[in-house]
Amino acid sequence: WGREGAVSRAHAYNPRAGRCRLSKIGAGRRPPPARVRVAVRLRPFVDGTAGASDPPCVRGMDSCSLEIANWRNHQETLKYQFDAFYGERSTQQDIYAGSVQPILRHLLEGQNASVLAYGPTGAGKTHTMLGSPEQPGVIPRALMDLLQLTREEGTEGRPWALSVTMSYLEIYQEKVLDLLDSTSGDLVIREDCRGNILIPGLTQKPITSFADFERHFLPASRNRTVGATRLNQRSSRSHAVLLVKVDQRERLAPFRQREGKLYLIDLAGSEDNRRTGNKGLRLKESGAINASLFVLGKVVDALNQGLPRVPYRDSKLTRLLQDSLGGSAHSILIANIAPERHFYLDTVSALNFAARTKEVINRPFTNESLQPHVLGPVKLSQKELLGPPEAKRARGPEEEEIGSLGPMAASASASQKLSPLQKLSSMDPAMLERLLSLDRLLASQGSQGPPLLSTPKRERMVLMKTVEEKDLEIERLKMKQKELEAKVLAQKAEDSKEKENHCPTILRPLLHRTVTVAKPLKKAVVMPLQLIQEQAASPNAEIHILKNKGRKRKLESLDAPEPEEKAEDCWELQISPELLAHGRQKILDLLNEGSARDLRSLQRIGPKKAQLIVGWRELHGPFSQVEDLERVEGITGKQMESFLKANILGLAAGQRCGPS
Ligand code: ADP
Ligand code: MG
Repeated sequence: WGREGAVSRAHAYNPRAGRCRLSKIGAGRRPPPARVRVAVRLRPFVDGTAGASDPPCVRGMDSCSLEIANWRNHQETLKYQFDAFYGERSTQQDIYAGSVQPILRHLLEGQNASVLAYGPTGAGKTHTMLGSPEQPGVIPRALMDLLQLTREEGTEGRPWALSVTMSYLEIYQEKVLDLLDSTSGDLVIREDCRGNILIPGLTQKPITSFADFERHFLPASRNRTVGATRLNQRSSRSHAVLLVKVDQRERLAPFRQREGKLYLIDLAGSEDNRRTGNKGLRLKESGAINASLFVLGKVVDALNQGLPRVPYRDSKLTRLLQDSLGGSAHSILIANIAPERHFYLDTVSALNFAARTKEVINRPFTNESLQPHVLGPVKLSQKELLGPPEAKRARGPEEEEIGSLGPMAASASASQKLSPLQKLSSMDPAMLERLLSLDRLLASQGSQGPPLLSTPKRERMVLMKTVEEKDLEIERLKMKQKELEAKVLAQKAEDSKEKENHCPTILRPLLHRTVTVAKPLKKAVVMPLQLIQEQAASPNAEIHILKNKGRKRKLESLDAPEPEEKAEDCWELQISPELLAHGRQKILDLLNEGSARDLRSLQRIGPKKAQLIVGWRELHGPFSQVEDLERVEGITGKQMESFLKANILGLAAGQRCGPS
């Protein structure tokens, strides 16, 4: 491939005409880029895997759409629409005949095609593409048919002589490696002057029968997927690309040539490696994989929306596919998903990647598939179970559900005000306690969603990881709060002394030691309650600069006259929690809705970070809190903190303020 590559793609080839000239003539008549078709395949539960006895968290609605539970609100499901949906009972033949076979004939017209299997590791990509001897997948079926087709079309007496070749490569950490020649290093991808993509030096084996294909493919494939764990990990982190090329030469004048390329690709796992806790090399690998998958998403988006620029060149994978995705090529992306609940977040992210449309449907998903449990005895006290009044209000919908249960469940539930979906007796008390405290925290922050306790069991396991992180965060904040409380106490004595001399209208004697709960902004100084109320009355007084001068402190309002002395030592800001929350919300809105350009208007966000943020959002959906920024590859916790510090006030107050 590439060495002999003097062939035209869809246009008649005239050996006397310059190739580039030919392409220029043809360029004006190029059809608009073709859309990438998207199919989703839901695999069945696999025996022996964790969660196989639980109800599924996703189900098909018809041949094009599916719905998935919304863990934020179990009264809703999310409905996704695709070109095709294959449910858990679909066979290998269904997928092949429905989505792959129809595009093969275009190869004989000199057009290119690609089939890509996308999805998290374990969701069935390799099963779909390769399959097993009992259930052969897309690759063997397509090869079988293509070889048959070329034999028929190329028989003596027909106008065209046909030949088929194969190449097999892997893209691992943005390196292109020849799987048919283990000695080859990173190969270069080139584009000829007609826009054909080629890889000089890539092995290209002629095949005339399926046995030929197997002879080359199986050892290379085995090398890649079987063996040490390290190799297995690698196989789920690299893109395996099988290229089948059909060459046609006209037997009589004008002796035209045609070439059609078919790419059959088992993509790297799309799972979020940060969430699954992978460290070190794997994290580095995932960065590279995500870059390729991320650009693939952009390319598919650009093609499907008809955008003028398609960013093929931004990754090796898309660069390789440049002449086989879009243009006159026929492409299908098969997103593989799994029904188990521990796949939930990866499933949502795979669906978001693949979806063209998504809508929220107001109907509970879990109720239909879950058996209502009779609530068992619970060790926690009634008070603990009820939580704050807000939490009780948020539990409204469950109370209605309780009514539809048996009398025993209803009476147990009525006394405990808990979701009928849970068997609390079977829950780890520590976990229950954590869920309760998280529920209370969410409720106290005004969250309108249902309590976590009403989240079904498997889903909860996925959530527990998040809960643990939150716990740590809460612990850290509590420590911080204690420190700050001590600081405020120590300050009180000084403040009351200074109050007569400085800003008497702002500094009032502190009646109680009440301190507001610090919002998780690291550098905010927690203020006494009275002070905050005072300031809230006047919008301009919400931010105060507290100046440390030696051991003395002055409190100055921003709109106060010029301070007498220049700030030379430490400054700290006092900000009302409402203002902080407002600022955080504004940042969150920008992170979720802003374009890369909007994001660049933020402090500490350059073009690269803006791209990373937009990319993360595309892959994982909206940020649920500003701290999620830390999960974006390339943004560290420290950077996230300094980003917050730099932006929160400016956005909250609608102006830049600070002691610069
Ligand atoms: P991936 O390549 O996405 O990591 P695999 O193709 O290896 O996932 O699938 C994981 C497991 O699930 C394998 O044991 C595979 O045989 C099984 N599997 C996947 N899809 C199906 C399906 N549609 N029907 C039956 N088993 C499947
Ligand atoms: Mg696989």
